[in-house]
Amino acid sequence: MFIAEYLQRRRPSISFEFFPPKTDEGVENLMRTIKALRILNPGFVSVTYGAGGSSRVRTLEVVKRIKGELEIEPMAHLTCVGSSRSEMREIVRELTLAGVENIMALRGDPPKGETHFVQSTGGFRYASELIEMLRDEFNLCIGAGAYPEVHPDALDADDDIRVAAAKVAAGATFLTTQFFFDNTAYFAYVDRARAAGIDVPIVPGIMPITSYKGVATMLAMNGGKMPQRLLAELEARHDEPEAVAELGVAYTALQCRDLLAKGAPGLHFYTLNRSTATRAVVSALVATDAIREAALAYEATTLARNAGVTAR
Ligand code: FAD
Repeated sequence: MFIAEYLQRRRPSISFEFFPPKTDEGVENLMRTIKALRILNPGFVSVTYGAGGSSRVRTLEVVKRIKGELEIEPMAHLTCVGSSRSEMREIVRELTLAGVENIMALRGDPPKGETHFVQSTGGFRYASELIEMLRDEFNLCIGAGAYPEVHPDALDADDDIRVAAAKVAAGATFLTTQFFFDNTAYFAYVDRARAAGIDVPIVPGIMPITSYKGVATMLAMNGGKMPQRLLAELEARHDEPEAVAELGVAYTALQCRDLLAKGAPGLHFYTLNRSTATRAVVSALVATDAIREAALAYEATTLARNAGVTAR
């Protein structure tokens, strides 16, 4: 199943992202976590791609197991870090042989301890170059990253949109955003993207807050921002981990409800390999009918479009 086709057919799409564990035991734990989330009926799940060789082998292993054992559509992430073009072709061949049809094509973060991305000898410099190769040489659905709060290396917000447009022109058929906590940043990004002619679905990336320190570190890495009032509430609880996690679930549920009510095509959860917070958030969206209402709204828009009526 091509994720872009799924996103046309069925909305909102609920999806989950995991990273490959380092050990066999970790992989078994992850399989249990994914099983626990299967009840939420995800459209697909994705597995990130690290900088090291061993973690890359695990990405492939986990993706294969998700497809074979859990029968959930997997998406493998792939980055340009540390590989030549021909090595990347080999990796993609292996993924396609394992039945993988969806790839999140990225430039990649620098390996641990390094501050800047370095192009490998004979490798790709930008995600758009990888996307072009995937489009020209393979039959795959390609997703790419988007940055509502602007990628830290981008010159400015306009440059960031130009890069996103280049990735779509190269063959990306949907975009998934970096996580954010302020929905106005996402909707402003979607408006800028549409004005620039980007017409593919832009799926918001959601990070349920589970720890104060964890989220602060992630924000510092990605250059993201946190709304002042959320920050104040988290700081007031900084030495009460359970209270932070409770606030995190409540905030994320409200954030997701607002995104769906205003037409986001789906929600992609950065689970950090844990199920509890994501499960609570999605269950709250089900219990309040937020998912059903969004699905009905999308059906109505699609029917109106097919009937030639201008939809709201
Ligand atoms: P690009 O689109 O190539 O952009 C990188 C930088 O180069 C940007 O600043 C951009 O402005 C600039 N640029 C791009 N094209 C041009 C051009 N033609 N001319 C001049 N400048 C240009 N990282 C991992 O290591 N593993 C993962 O699995 C992973 N998964 C992710 C999933 C999602 C949904 C997202 C949003 C990010 C993910 N990342 C992952 C992080 C990502 O790799 C980093 O944010 C990385 O720094 C940028 O990747 P990109 O694909 O957006 O790069």
